[in-house]
Amino acid sequence: MSCLFCKIIAGEIPASKVYEDDQLIAFNDINPQAPMHVLVVPKRHVATLNDLSASDDGLVGAMVRRAAALAKEKSFDGPGYRTVFNCNGQAGQTVFHLHLHVLGGRTMTWPPG
Ligand code: 5GP
Ligand code: ZN
Repeated sequence: MSCLFCKIIAGEIPASKVYEDDQLIAFNDINPQAPMHVLVVPKRHVATLNDLSASDDGLVGAMVRRAAALAKEKSFDGPGYRTVFNCNGQAGQTVFHLHLHVLGGRTMTWPPG
């Protein structure tokens, strides 16, 4: 298995886990870009957003709602937070296992870099 996030899910590489259930795991990003920077990751290997199908709608909904719940736990629901899926090279995707970034705790700028 060569996928970094599959290795984290399998427990072969340590991560600072903040949430886990049967289909999702969430852990702190190793190189945080905000005071809160969590990655919400499906346990099943899906490379990019392009690889999702209608049967994954529940999974994606669970990822997005988990992102909101984790932000709320840190009281960022009121001030605001950002969720990001990077897809492929021009967007800056570097790990090809689907993940939703959740960033909070500072003012964000728009447009993103
Ligand atoms: P991407 O650039 O693919 O959207 O995001 C990948 C994210 O994974 C980056 O923010 C990067 O810092 C994070 N990352 C890369 N390797 C590791 C690791 O070994 N552990 C953790 N926790 N995060 C990682
Ligand atoms: Zn994977």
